[in-house]
Amino acid sequence: MHSGFMNTEEIEPLGSLYHHAQLRERHSDVPSSDEIETISERDDDTAQTVDKVKTQILTFKKRFFSEVSDAEWDDWHWQIRHRITNLRELERIICLTDSERNAFHDKGNLLPFAVTPYYAALIDSVNPSHALRRAVIPDVSEYMKSLGESEDPLKEEDDSPVPGLVHRYPDRVLFLVTDYCSTYCRYCTRSRMVGQHNMQKFTLERWNRIIEYISSRSEIRDVLLSGGDPLTLSDNRLEWLLSALRKIPHVEIIRIGTKVPVVLPQRVTLKLTRMLKRYHPLWVSIHFTHPEELTEEVSAACARLADAGIPMQSQTVLLSGVNDDVEIMRRLFHGLVKMRVRPYYLYQCDPIIGSAHFRTSVQRGLDIIGKLRGYTSGFAVPLYVIDAPEGGGKIPIMPEYVVGRDGDNLVMRNYEGKVYRYFDPIRRPSSDGRIN
Ligand code: SF4
Repeated sequence: MHSGFMNTEEIEPLGSLYHHAQLRERHSDVPSSDEIETISERDDDTAQTVDKVKTQILTFKKRFFSEVSDAEWDDWHWQIRHRITNLRELERIICLTDSERNAFHDKGNLLPFAVTPYYAALIDSVNPSHALRRAVIPDVSEYMKSLGESEDPLKEEDDSPVPGLVHRYPDRVLFLVTDYCSTYCRYCTRSRMVGQHNMQKFTLERWNRIIEYISSRSEIRDVLLSGGDPLTLSDNRLEWLLSALRKIPHVEIIRIGTKVPVVLPQRVTLKLTRMLKRYHPLWVSIHFTHPEELTEEVSAACARLADAGIPMQSQTVLLSGVNDDVEIMRRLFHGLVKMRVRPYYLYQCDPIIGSAHFRTSVQRGLDIIGKLRGYTSGFAVPLYVIDAPEGGGKIPIMPEYVVGRDGDNLVMRNYEGKVYRYFDPIRRPSSDGRIN
């Protein structure tokens, strides 16, 4: 099934681009000596973290893939071919807990499992609470069905006029191009369909039917390619798809939803970005989970996308014990902004079967947003949303800033909790019945 991924790709050295992306944007004001010290301490911290992660990846590679050249390691085809996909391979690299090991032994609908060697290198092999480890390593908790959980909580299948297409909102559609991901997240909203490796389903015929549907609906101006992960398709297949969509006059925007730049950054080659930029306006939504994902390689991949003029936005799922912490989120969102990725959505974890151990209360999400908004740049704070059950769509959830009304004043509180009145007279009908 991997034969479709075997095209030769052009790989660019990673280091120089990362250095560029690391450059800190400075204010034009001359900083005080205290500030200079803080900035240089911060730079030291960042440099130390980068070095630590670099060493960690090198050590992992030397230990488990000693025969592999750097060129092979940096080749996304090699990474795909050598994904860790079973218990035997996983036990070689991680000291598993009973709960993790038993997840492979228990019978039932365990979510598919695969992790690229690159992402596996970032995982703490001895700490089962490690955030990246929890996000991708199975656990027996996945077998527990809790109240409110279902296979398709967003009822995407009900809004699917042709197989592989979700048409929920009037002017945009979700085009599920593959069920394949290079690494599977344990909380995936589409766990019902990903990783089945059903190549019969994702045929050219199916794609053509979807393209025909989009062509016949002039109200569709925005097409989101998702899956599975569209960036696991070969350049040729992806280009075929993009060019077919670009031929439809009413399709204004094409978006690609992907986690590949995070779990398989080697895939974002110059050849790929040169091809993608031919299909502008094209946006990329990247699924990030934790600041530890912001490595040199990921930074280089994002730099290549940004340099191709592709606007990037992030999507993050709020996960208990993984990233439900203000400081973690702050580090993630600040890191993304530096990589030219705009934090876009923070999702409440969808109630797919076996995901209760990941779900936080909604209040937790509100508290995090409340401690970010006003305390950092507005565009570094994503919109916190709940994808409503039964296909209700994304609903933004905000801390309450409007306190109420006091006569002709709107009473509001700011991010520090201070209350302000804004003169906003109630419009009353005049004698001729008009509203002034
Ligand atoms: S990358 Fe996306 S589609 Fe694939 S498993 Fe993760 S959340 Fe699901």
